[in-house]
Parts: sequence; C-alpha cells; structure tokens
Amino acid sequence: MKEEHPVLKGKTLSELQALCTSLGIEAYRAKQIYAGIYKSRYTSLDQFTTLSKEIRELLKEKTVFPEIKLGRELISKDGTRKFTFDVEPGKEIETVWIPSADGERKTICISSQVGCTLNCSFCATGLLEYKGNLQTWQIVDQVLQVEKIVQDRATNIVFMGMGEPLHNYFSVMKAAHIFHDMDGMGLGAKRITISTAGVVTGINRFIDNKEPYNFAISLNHPNPNARSSVMDINKKHPLEKLLESARRFTQELDRMITFEYVMIPDVNMGKENAERLVRIARSVNKCKINVIPLNTDFTGWRRPTEEEVGEFVSYLRAKAGVPILNRQSPGRDINGACGMLALKGVRNEGSNKN
Ligand code: SAH
Repeated sequence: MKEEHPVLKGKTLSELQALCTSLGIEAYRAKQIYAGIYKSRYTSLDQFTTLSKEIRELLKEKTVFPEIKLGRELISKDGTRKFTFDVEPGKEIETVWIPSADGERKTICISSQVGCTLNCSFCATGLLEYKGNLQTWQIVDQVLQVEKIVQDRATNIVFMGMGEPLHNYFSVMKAAHIFHDMDGMGLGAKRITISTAGVVTGINRFIDNKEPYNFAISLNHPNPNARSSVMDINKKHPLEKLLESARRFTQELDRMITFEYVMIPDVNMGKENAERLVRIARSVNKCKINVIPLNTDFTGWRRPTEEEVGEFVSYLRAKAGVPILNRQSPGRDINGACGMLALKGVRNEGSNKN
C-alpha cells in the first residue's frame, strides 16, 4: 500500500473537498466521491463512473482506497455474527452483527482500538496486548464490510466493541459524523451510541462539543473504592468526578444518559450496592440503567442466576425511579457478547465458517 498517500475512506466531506483541491480536482467532485463510498458503497475506484476516467486515474495514483481484511466469522445460534478483521497485518479487531429476535433492530457493535489500555477485571479485551488507536477509515470500514457480508443495513451502531472510544476521541467522532451525516450513511444520531468506561475529560469534551449521539457510561460499580478494584480507570477518573460529568451531561445537553451495569455476584449485587446504585440514579435523574449479567468466567467470578438478577432488578425498579433495562446478551456461544471480544475460539459452540 502507498502508505504516504491520503486515504479516501473515513474522510468527512470537507476533508475530501480539501483533498480534491490539493490534487487539482474541482471541489464539487468531493460530493460524488463521498456518495460513491457511503451511499453507493463502491469497493473499487473503477466504479466511480460519475467521475471522468482522468480523475479516477489521478485518484488511483495519488490516493489509496483500502479495506480492512476479513479474518474469521462465527455465527451464533441466536443469529449474532462475530467477525475478526485485520486492520493492518498483525492488528486484529472484532466486530459484531446483532439482529434482534423480531428482526427489526440490527445493531453493529464496532471497535475503536486494537485491544485496550484499560484493564477492567471482568472484560476479556483488557487481556489483549494494546496495539493502538484505529483510524477513522478503519472504524467506518467495519460497518461497510459487515453490511456487505450480511447483505443488510444496520439500524443501530454501538461503539461497544474493543477499546475505549474516548481514548480515540477525534477518530471516533469523525466516524460517528459519517454514520450520521445525511450525505454519508444517514443514520439518526440516537441510533449511534458511544460508550465509555469513564474518561471524564472525554465526557466533558463530548458535552462542550454538543455531540448529538447517544451516550453510555459503563458504571459497573457504585462504590468509589470497590470500583477502583475492578476498573483501574477509577483511580484516574474517580466515581465522584464521573457522576459530576454525568449530571453536567443531563443538565447542559438536556438529554438522557445511560449507565451500563455488569452484574457480578458477590461483587456488586448486594443490598448496599443496590442502595448506592439507587442513590446514583436518583441524583442523576435523567438516566436509565442497563443491567447485564457477567458473561465471562475467566476471572473466577460467576454469572448471576436468574433469581439473583430478578431480585436485583426488582429492587432497582421499585426504588430507582428511572428505567431499568435487563439487557439480553446475544452471541455468548461465539464469545461475541459484551466483555467477550478477544476470547476467540474458547469453548466455541457456534459454527465456524472459515
Ligand atoms: N470501553 C468502553 C467500550 C466497551 S463497551 C466501555 O467500557 O464502555 C463494553 C461493555 O461491556 C461495557 O459496558 C462493559 O461494562 C461491558 N462488559 C465488559 N465486560 C463484560 C462482561 N464480562 N460481561 C458483561 N458485560 C461486560
């Protein structure tokens, strides 16, 4: 690959306009290129027939139009499909296609980094070696490639794959913009969710920039000290500051924020923690809580039983005064569920196509 050449994919329209100008191509051509990539989904420059042959040749010579490379595909009993991609040789990420049971909602869960610098003790991605941030085109291309393979379009995109999106803020927001932009993929802002383990500086930047996307915080523990013991990031960005920024979010943007809460028996499901969680919900107020049972057991912790989940959830529903969503976690049999990315091939019951 001509490394030094600019990449056509992953550029905003105005970046493409600037690129065209710098190559001596009329700026209005940028719109045709943008539409060719995101609306027509062209995979080769030869398909851009709205452009003259001269322009296509110039683009071939001076730019690159790369793709991330499909590695393996695993298909779950429940219809979830997990893909691995090499974004570059030796840099592997995972992307998950999650159709809802009624077929109405089709979610793509995308990665923002190769591995993760965080070390959340319940999450498999933290076990991987961190190999860097993804570039915008590598984020956007996950959606283009998966949609091409499954021959369908996503209704929702969540940044809940590998990595911490707010540690790759600008590339992530640029990708989200392309997903949302009417001239790009045209997905509603509320159908795009950014999820963070709690990078307070990033949350504040998100608020300052009035980003329109859905926003989720992986709270996971309501006790300041205990949170540090399961999520290292709490030492750098303590719970109190995190909640301050969550309140600021709801007040300044006047929007609902989501808390994700992975339920781990003997860790964060006891009475005291339930009470703390209720106090947090009440203090933030404009929020909802998605609870999700622990999916991994490599930590020695176990998954909660249905009774334990039932008890915890009913307590929250009775006291918290905010919506509590008991989230299903599709794709467990292919290690495609939350917290399982990177656990490839381990106890796999799904069918491996490759
Ligand atoms: N770093 C971001 C994006 C990853 S999202 C973040 O933390 O939000 C991954 C989601 O899966 C998070 O909500 C996380 O708390 C949850 N998760 C991680 N490990 C899990 C596990 N073992 N079981 C269930 N959920 C898990």
